Amino acid sequence: MEDEWICGRMGEDEPWTLGAVNPPVFENSLFTFGTAAELGAAIRDEDERYVYGRGTNPTVDVAQRKLAALERGERAKCFGSGMGAISATISSLVSAGDHVLVLGAVYGPTTQFLRYLEKYGVTHTHVDDLAGCDSAIRASTRLLYFESPSYMAYAIVDIAEVAAWARGRGLVTVMDNTWSTPLFQKPLTLGVDLVVHSLSKYVGGHSDLVGGVVVGPARLIRPLALTEYQLYGAAMSPHDAAKVIKGLRTLPVRMAAHQERGLAVAAFLEGHPAVRAVNHPGLPSHPGHATALRQMSGFSSLFSIELATDDRQQAALFLDKLRHFRIGVSWGGFESLVNAPALTIEESVRATMGIPVGLARLSIGLEPAATLVEDLDQALSALPGPPRPISG
Ligand code: PLP
Repeated sequence: MEDEWICGRMGEDEPWTLGAVNPPVFENSLFTFGTAAELGAAIRDEDERYVYGRGTNPTVDVAQRKLAALERGERAKCFGSGMGAISATISSLVSAGDHVLVLGAVYGPTTQFLRYLEKYGVTHTHVDDLAGCDSAIRASTRLLYFESPSYMAYAIVDIAEVAAWARGRGLVTVMDNTWSTPLFQKPLTLGVDLVVHSLSKYVGGHSDLVGGVVVGPARLIRPLALTEYQLYGAAMSPHDAAKVIKGLRTLPVRMAAHQERGLAVAAFLEGHPAVRAVNHPGLPSHPGHATALRQMSGFSSLFSIELATDDRQQAALFLDKLRHFRIGVSWGGFESLVNAPALTIEESVRATMGIPVGLARLSIGLEPAATLVEDLDQALSALPGPPRPISG
């Protein structure tokens, strides 16, 4: 099945749409039944049947079917946020006494959630690579969680290698695939068990939606749908599902433009004297580039740069000097954004995560690359350059 067809049309030709060009939004919170027996039967099969909006909704189902097909998974469940999907997924896989391996840098609140689980007797260990996994694995380890590219550093993990390592040891793997979108990377086809996404980024694409999804085999999604999805109550609203459906229609063309503009801006920054490093896996100079080319079919436009300074004030000045980029969290929308984690997170957290003081994260939007390059150039030229040799 072609990804473009899945994004644009699949799942939309149901009889209940009556040929409407956009799938209608089912705004009702509940469905009614002719008899008590029919209601009872529906409740017994609540993941497949429409009973109450905290569990299932036809508009949300359209989005779920598309996302499952794009990730080449059997089933998908959409949530009210990416964190809703991540916390429900992890909760469904662990019990008191279990241990989780976290490979590489992951989204901060995911780590916060794992810390939160400590009060229920679930522990975790952060490791940098498979050698670290070998040393940290315990009899109680159940789950290996990771992102690729990794959070903020955009390091590449060899997904097939990690999935095979985990499978050989009886662990379930969960991977956050938000960066690549389901278009550019399909971790389930590389052996990962469950994929999670924040849909608030490229999939929504217009910074007007907060949503998430988990995709995988029915044997893992169904228990989660009947338990954590229903009990935590982080259901996706049908209106947000309609935004996901619209976002998916333009995702292929938007991602092609994000890729092109992101790479153009990254290439400009790579040659700039005020920039120490550019962490973009699409650049041939990136240490994970060869692996990335093997397991990804494209590159999104979120990356980080290390300014040639370790001075907080200089890093802040760079952000403040930008005129076109907007300063803010999140990413993946139309507008280009900049964020400097070292300036916004606690110093102890920054140091533990190994985030350099001069690190700035750029989300390249859909504005012309020349506009963005010009803006970055003028902001970088406001920083004192690297020391020049004294002549004479
Ligand atoms: N995963 C990654 C990589 C993210 O960057 C984010 C949010 O920034 C999330 C998950 C969480 O998604 P949400 O904000 O939709 O809860």
